[in-house]
Amino acid sequence: MKTIGLIGGMSWESSAEYYRIINEEAKKRLGGLHSAKCLLYSIDFEEIEICQRNGEWEKAAQILTDAAYCLQLAGVDFIVICTNTMHKVVNEIQANINIPILHIADITAQKVLSCGIKTVGLLGTKYTMEQDFYKSRLEEKGIKVLIPKESDRVIVNTVIYNELCLGKIVEESRVKYKRIIEDLIGQGAEGIILGCTEIGLLVKPGDATVPLFDTTLLHALGAVDFALE
Ligand code: GLU
Repeated sequence: MKTIGLIGGMSWESSAEYYRIINEEAKKRLGGLHSAKCLLYSIDFEEIEICQRNGEWEKAAQILTDAAYCLQLAGVDFIVICTNTMHKVVNEIQANINIPILHIADITAQKVLSCGIKTVGLLGTKYTMEQDFYKSRLEEKGIKVLIPKESDRVIVNTVIYNELCLGKIVEESRVKYKRIIEDLIGQGAEGIILGCTEIGLLVKPGDATVPLFDTTLLHALGAVDFALE
């Protein structure tokens, strides 16, 4: 079994999910008292969020690179960055370490394509929905990506930072997300990517009439696949 290096804390609410899913899956596959070999480097999310807001992506990249480097020194075999948004700086991190990073969008795209789906709706932070770094990774693989209209992107983003990253699960927000998902389906989405690692805490498979691709679940399971390969 390879040792998984998790860069978490973005937010820790979702890192806890990664830890739970990875260990449950390792136990399921290996049986007995088996659990996953992993190290978690959990950073202070406030520092990262300030960088995001100020557009200081190089500074954020440096914080994550330091974490990845520590994990490499500690002996992990590969890196899992437990957030979609911070994959914006994945190339900068990868350039400074010599172990692989398991890209969250690649794992998600694989699953989407294996379901025969070609058009998806993408929910995530405003950075993930509006900028190119994430969408292009999906589009390169032949997936068409739809995003909510501007006023709905504000809702999706605000719920992530003001509620989910603080551990608040608000029923009213779930209703809003469901309506936004239905709008995307109306525009032609055959599946919805929950492209923020906290959204799965709010939106559950029964909340939509099309398949939901929970990036936390897929990324964590992908990590176990890779660890056991
Ligand atoms: N966990 C979130 C994501 O998957 C948002 C927090 C962040 O900005 O990293 O994008």
